[in-house]
Amino acid sequence: MATAPVPYGRVTQQPPAVKEVDILWITAGLSCDGDSISITAATQPSIEDVLLGAIPGLPKVNLHNPVLAYEVGDDFMKYWYLADEGKLDPFVLVIEGSIPNEKIKSEGYWAALGTDSKTGQPITTCEWIDRLAPKAVAVVACGTCATYGGIHAMAGNPTGAMGLADYLGWDWKSKAGLPIVNVPGCPVQPDNFMETLLYLLYQLAGLAPMIPLDNALRPTWLFGKTVHEGCDRAGYYEQADFATEYGSPKCIVKLGCWGPVVQCNVPKRGWMNGIGGCPNVGGIC
Ligand code: SF4
Ligand code: SF4
Repeated sequence: MATAPVPYGRVTQQPPAVKEVDILWITAGLSCDGDSISITAATQPSIEDVLLGAIPGLPKVNLHNPVLAYEVGDDFMKYWYLADEGKLDPFVLVIEGSIPNEKIKSEGYWAALGTDSKTGQPITTCEWIDRLAPKAVAVVACGTCATYGGIHAMAGNPTGAMGLADYLGWDWKSKAGLPIVNVPGCPVQPDNFMETLLYLLYQLAGLAPMIPLDNALRPTWLFGKTVHEGCDRAGYYEQADFATEYGSPKCIVKLGCWGPVVQCNVPKRGWMNGIGGCPNVGGIC
């Protein structure tokens, strides 16, 4: 008896508009790889759920991240070269780490990934962005360095480090018409990134409208509220009952908390599986 073919992932009423999508993830900006490590803690959804087809309606997803890949060397890099040649389509480009300015140095390079087969020279991160961003269906900046420059872009800034939107332009659009999507955080909150990626995958699958972004290119549903608005200590603030030292359950604004003006959902969402959230657990924002 012939066996029916087993469908990839869970079956839904509407098959995705694209069957398969690759994610090319550069950690070779000025990066500590912390955002890649962070997303391994995601649970809503987990990276395994997305890659192993547990979520209904998604295309098959292939992740190429140098920190998480099993492949190394040429086996890993081949996907990048294929994408460069236009033979890997569609793909989402994720940038982790700030973008250096390769024009302000007199020799060498600031950041690179892989080698150019024609010249034998390293391919700089900037060159990869120049080559791949126009071919990507979506480009995502992951973490505070890639989004806005992060610690490398502080005063002095010898590498000319900047965020992706400062490099590509704030009005930049992908070939599919999507703006750059910024998911800041140092490191990125795991579920914030994976939920954004999930949204984009649903959008590519034809199952979600254009991703809503604020004027800093962040998903509005994740970054629309202040820390203060989601803080467990807000009742103490309301009563003007303030902590004067750490270890107190009261509002820590007088110890330096910036929660009233910072837009971040970590106190609501926690860090891992709902646990944590800076002021909730005693740390100033
Ligand atoms: S600890 Fe910070 S975020 Fe929480 S209520 Fe006080 S000022 Fe607001
Ligand atoms: S609550 Fe404040 S310190 Fe904590 S992750 Fe959010 S912005 Fe950073």
